[in-house]
Amino acid sequence: MSEIKTDYLVIGSGIAGLSFALKVAEFGEVSLITKSSLDNTNTILAQGGVAAVIMGDDDPENHAKDTHIAGAGLCHKDAVDVLVNEASRRIQELIDLGVKFDAKEDGNFDLAREGGHSHHRILHVADETGRNIQEILIKKVKDHPNIHIYEHHMAVELITDHHVLSNLQSAFNICFGAYVLNEKSGEVHIFHADYTMLATGGASRVYLHTTNPQIATGDGIAMAYRAGVRIANMEFIQFHPTALYEPGAEPFLISEACRGFGGILRNGDGERFMENYDERLELAPRDIVARAIDAECKSRGESCAYLDMTHLHPNKVLAHFPNIASHCQEKLKIDITQEWIPVVPAAHYVCGGVMTNLNGQTSMHNLFASGEAAHTGVHGANRLASNSLLEGLVFAHRAAKRVIEKKRNILNNVTIPEWDDTDVTNEQEWSLIRNNRNELQTIMWDYVGIVRSKVQLNRAVTRMTTLYEEIEEYYRRTRVSLELLELRNLSAVAYLIVRSAMRRNESRGLHFMTDYPEKDDKYLKDTII
Ligand SMILES: Cc1cc2nc3c(=O)[nH]c(=O)nc-3n(C[C@H](O)[C@H](O)[C@H](O)COP(=O)(O)OP(=O)(O)OC[C@H]3O[C@@H](n4cnc5c(N)ncnc54)[C@H](O)[C@@H]3O)c2cc1C
Repeated sequence: MSEIKTDYLVIGSGIAGLSFALKVAEFGEVSLITKSSLDNTNTILAQGGVAAVIMGDDDPENHAKDTHIAGAGLCHKDAVDVLVNEASRRIQELIDLGVKFDAKEDGNFDLAREGGHSHHRILHVADETGRNIQEILIKKVKDHPNIHIYEHHMAVELITDHHVLSNLQSAFNICFGAYVLNEKSGEVHIFHADYTMLATGGASRVYLHTTNPQIATGDGIAMAYRAGVRIANMEFIQFHPTALYEPGAEPFLISEACRGFGGILRNGDGERFMENYDERLELAPRDIVARAIDAECKSRGESCAYLDMTHLHPNKVLAHFPNIASHCQEKLKIDITQEWIPVVPAAHYVCGGVMTNLNGQTSMHNLFASGEAAHTGVHGANRLASNSLLEGLVFAHRAAKRVIEKKRNILNNVTIPEWDDTDVTNEQEWSLIRNNRNELQTIMWDYVGIVRSKVQLNRAVTRMTTLYEEIEEYYRRTRVSLELLELRNLSAVAYLIVRSAMRRNESRGLHFMTDYPEKDDKYLKDTII
């Protein structure tokens, strides 16, 4: 298997990739590749639900208004209108596929309300909405005869004009598919496609503390950037205020509901510090609580803060948060009814990404992007809770519609050179280079985190440039592996975040600069690289 020809190449098996694959599979052959197992995604972790106006006294205009307020002036009006107006149709499709959103006794949906939403409009399946959607979509793609699934296959690079220029008369800025690493055999194959969909999810693993799974290394964004595709607004990273502080372990979210239930945030001396930051205390908006914890930890030289639930009725705490209680008990031997939970803010969501129009089209022909990897314009400077699953659904649908309508790609009849690794050596230095990952994540956390300044960003640039060059140089002479590719992609994404942050001399939404603490409408525009 050296070259696979396919009509549609879908990279990623979260909500965006799977829903796109199912739609285009009615019209051609689909190769669906994913670098881990099908269910290793951000999608499966989504707890809260999907925002959509489907009934009652709510209106898409309210949803649009809330989205714009959260986005702090940078949401694209056309994209938000599409998002809120097409939401109910996409939700109905999920229901038709078998997703059973929670309903009340009267048969109406049990709609939740989250921070920033003026109405109850979050559809959910208990606190496992993402898992439910993911499992149903996986079943459907597995059953579809036109979808060929390649698990543990990782896209290495997009195939573009520069790979095939000797066959073409001139450059057209076209994507012809991707080079893909079969992680088990170590071989790199050509996936030659008429249309390629980047649905590779987010990049929050670029930070030391994150709520995201290991796959979230921004591969799609990095590949697109290297291919010369436009990337937007990478400075806007959403941090969740409370992830469990458990160095070295896989991330675990301590739900916002714990604070809603009466949980109190304390510093190492047991002081309730939120009173020094916001009159809404622990229930201030996410970005404010995250900044407060960050400031408190940094000023006191402490690694984490604590969430105190010990004053609450133990049986009620255990009844409401059985999963959190058992996780803390199992992993840290902490009884949350008796002891404080160590928490730290953690990178949660990347608002920027590969720029697309309203149909998922990127700045490169035949290359589409959707989901967290994409920048459609709906999130602006801060994402409204539960809008991301919806964004994946709505814009993957539009991209599918667009590629189905398009004519077949007449320029696709080119010869793509095989992946060339003849002069590469093997991994003697890997043990040194692999430490770069931790270094990079630490630099991002310390200097390009929740609160930034020019001095910190400059320091980050200096340190990151050395790492970036070292990693690129090592990459050029080493056989590719998943770990190396992820490290390379993380360094590209880190560079994009820092460069974007350096361009915005103001504080807006999720981007907070101590030396420019106010909004400045000179910057009321996207940061495009
Ligand atoms: C803990 C948590 C809770 C959340 N809760 C909510 C919520 O309640 N509501 C909400 O709307 N959003 C929520 N989010 C955000 C939301 O889950 C994600 O933004 C969304 O699921 C992203 O979907 P996606 O399809 O773009 O990417 P993902 O679901 O992350 O899927 C990405 C896929 O791409 C694959 N991939 C990546 N790189 C490569 C490569 N190089 N080659 C091949 N495959 C690759 C991955 O393996 C994976 O299959 C939450 C996120 C987290 C982490």
